[in-house]
Amino acid sequence: MLIIGLIGSLSSGKHLIADILHKQYDFVILEYKDFKKKKDHAAEECLSKAKETWPKNVVIVGINSLKAMIEMHDNPQFFPIAIEGPLIIRFQRQKHAIINSLEKFVQLDDYLMFGINSNEQCIDKILENLQLDSKDISPLHKCMDICHLRLINDTNDRMNLEKKLADLLSIDSKGQQLTTTKLLCPSWDQYFLMLAWITASHGNCVRHRVGCIIADTDLRIIATGYNGTPGNIKACDQGGCKRCWNMSIEHGERLDECICIHAEESALFEAGRRLYQNATLYVTHNPCRQCSKKITQNGIKRVVYTKEYPSSLEDVRQLFEQANIDFDKQNIESIPLLRLSQ
Ligand SMILES: [Zn+2]
Ligand SMILES: [Zn+2]
Repeated sequence: MLIIGLIGSLSSGKHLIADILHKQYDFVILEYKDFKKKKDHAAEECLSKAKETWPKNVVIVGINSLKAMIEMHDNPQFFPIAIEGPLIIRFQRQKHAIINSLEKFVQLDDYLMFGINSNEQCIDKILENLQLDSKDISPLHKCMDICHLRLINDTNDRMNLEKKLADLLSIDSKGQQLTTTKLLCPSWDQYFLMLAWITASHGNCVRHRVGCIIADTDLRIIATGYNGTPGNIKACDQGGCKRCWNMSIEHGERLDECICIHAEESALFEAGRRLYQNATLYVTHNPCRQCSKKITQNGIKRVVYTKEYPSSLEDVRQLFEQANIDFDKQNIESIPLLRLSQ
């Protein structure tokens, strides 16, 4: 069951949308104003009426109280949509005889949207005429702020609006049929991609913020990763990566100098990270900058090598020092097999 709430500015087309939902998708229409007599319990009454229609879907038109919005929001089936549209189109659409000039329309719109009353007498008269009680309504922008979606109704073409709604209500997978629509339950791809975007919010690279999720075939998360400098190294956005901070370097250029780890790398490392905790890495030649950042990210505690590979050695040494990784050069006594076979 889906309960769509429509919160819209003046003449934004809320009723037309409700009509399409009713005629094409069999939604039951409830008018929020019909429950306003119940004062403090309007939201509760409205929701219990909605539940009586189970298993039919419901659209509640014209919610204009923040208190009601917050109460309805607790219901897991409730999906509020903000409807907006260009002022001039909304003015041309409106049919109330009392709003006979664009100025009056703007005054009323400002009042409903922001609570600004620039012409008290006129607004009071209009509100009375439209049977709206000023004590009962909240500025719409506050109600719209908690909507999950914003629909811009910028056309008077019903077909166009029908198409927009069809896209919104389309069903991607069988699992979604229970909730009727992807509005309440995104597909698994959408779900993991949304999580990837949330993960990206922790990215610390000044160039981009990228997030990554790795899920197994059972749709369980194996690892998450975001981009930025390796753990224990000053964050890129705090000046940790010299290459990223040098804005004369174009995107994608001189990447070998960058010490930021990509989100995908970070997630791949994360999956195996516990294996490497406090381990020692032995390597014939000292690691390059690219390998050292990966070593740092993986929790390796000590790196031992025998032969120097001069390019970027100093940078690598500094990186390991910052990350508190021991970096030892040792000579070996016996001759490696590789040498013997030469
Ligand atoms: Zn960076
Ligand atoms: Zn960088």
